[in-house]
Amino acid sequence: MTRIFALILAFAAALLAPQAAHAQDITAIRFGEHATHTRVVIETRTPARVRAHTLSEPGARLVLSFESASWAVDGLPDAAGLGAGLVGAFRFDDAASHPRLVFSLSGPANIRQQMSLDPAGGGYRTVIDLEPVSQAAFASVSGFPQAAATITELVAREAGVGFTPESCERIRVVIDPGHGGRDPGALARFGGMHESGVVLAAGLALRDILNESGRYEVIMTRDTDVFVDLYDRVRIAREARADLFISIHADSAGDNSGPQGATVYSMNARAESRARDRAITDGNWVDISRPEEVSRILVEMSIANKRSQSELFAEALRTEVGRTAALWRSTPMEANFAVLTDAETPAVLFEMGFLTNREDSRRMNDPAGRRRLMQAAAAAIDTHFAGCGATGWTYWAANTGAPAAVASAR
Ligand SMILES: [Zn+2]
Repeated sequence: MTRIFALILAFAAALLAPQAAHAQDITAIRFGEHATHTRVVIETRTPARVRAHTLSEPGARLVLSFESASWAVDGLPDAAGLGAGLVGAFRFDDAASHPRLVFSLSGPANIRQQMSLDPAGGGYRTVIDLEPVSQAAFASVSGFPQAAATITELVAREAGVGFTPESCERIRVVIDPGHGGRDPGALARFGGMHESGVVLAAGLALRDILNESGRYEVIMTRDTDVFVDLYDRVRIAREARADLFISIHADSAGDNSGPQGATVYSMNARAESRARDRAITDGNWVDISRPEEVSRILVEMSIANKRSQSELFAEALRTEVGRTAALWRSTPMEANFAVLTDAETPAVLFEMGFLTNREDSRRMNDPAGRRRLMQAAAAAIDTHFAGCGATGWTYWAANTGAPAAVASAR
C-alpha cells in the first residue's frame, strides 16, 4: 500500500473519529419562502459544526453533515417532516458516523450562502439560503465527486509526485506476462514463440534484473505456461499491495507486417470508470458504517493517484524503451484493458513490439534483445521510484484535519 493511501485512510479516520463529547442537539428547523430564495434555519443547543452540499443523483438533495448531532425537535418524533419553498421532505439520519439532515429539493438549487448565528431567543442558528438555478449549473456544483476532484487536484498539486510506497527499500512490483496456457495470444508469424511464450520469457528476465538490484520485491502473476484469468491478475496485484503493476504483451497487426515498435498503455477514461464502478460495488471500499460520500472520496483519490502514477511511469518507460527500440506511436496511449481497471495499483500494459513485424519478432525472440527491452523497463522502474520517500508526507501530516479542506474545496 502506498503511503499516500495510508494518509488517505488517516484523513478518513480523522473525518470519522468519534467526537460525541458535546452533541449538537437539533432543537428546531424552520423554512422561509422568499421571492428569490428559500431559507433553511436549523437551531442547535451548542454551535453546530456542519458542512452543507447539494447532490444531484438520485434526485436533487441538500445534505447537511454534522460533526455530531442528535434529534431533539419537539413535535417531530419521527425525525422527519416537510419543508417549504424549494424544500420538500426532510429527514434526520443518525445511522451514519456523521449525522446528516437530508432535504429533498423540488428542483435544481444552489447554496447561495451559509451562515452561523448566535442565539436570538432560541438556539444557535445555521442558516442556509437556497436559490433556484438551471439544471446545468446545479449539476456543475453538486455532488461529492466534484468536491473529491477538487481535493484530488489539491493533493496532486501539493503532493506532486510525492506518492511513496510503504517501503522504499522493498518496492513491490507485480510483473504480469500476458496470456498463457490455453491462450497463446498473438501467434508467431516469423518463427519463434507465440506471444504467451515471448512475454513469459521477458517477464522472467525482468524479474531477474529487478531481483539483482535487491531493491524490489517481485511478484509474478504467472511464472509458467498457465492460463490466469484477467481479474485474478488484478487481484494478485491488489492483494500484494503492489506499488506498480506492469503487464507485458506482444502486439499483432494481423496480416499487416508494417506496424512496428513498442507501445505503453495506461488506463483511459472508460477503464477509469470501470475501476470506479468496481470499487464502489467492491466490499473493500464501501463500509456502511461511514457516509457513502466518504467512500466515494476515497475511491476518487485512489483512482486519481493511480492515474497520475501510471501516466508518470508510462512516460518513463516510453523514454527508456525509446533508447533501444522503435516506438509504435509518439504520443502517450491509453486503453480500456481489463488489467488496468483496478482503482488502486498504478498499472501499465507494455506491448514490447509486433510479432507480426519481422524486426520486432526477431528482437523479442532473441534473449539479448529481450534483455535490452527489460533493462529499459527496469531503468524506467528505477527512475520512477528514484524520489521514493522524498515528498508528500509533510503536507499530509499537517493536514490530516482535512475536513476543513473538504469544506473550503466546495
Ligand atoms: Zn497480448
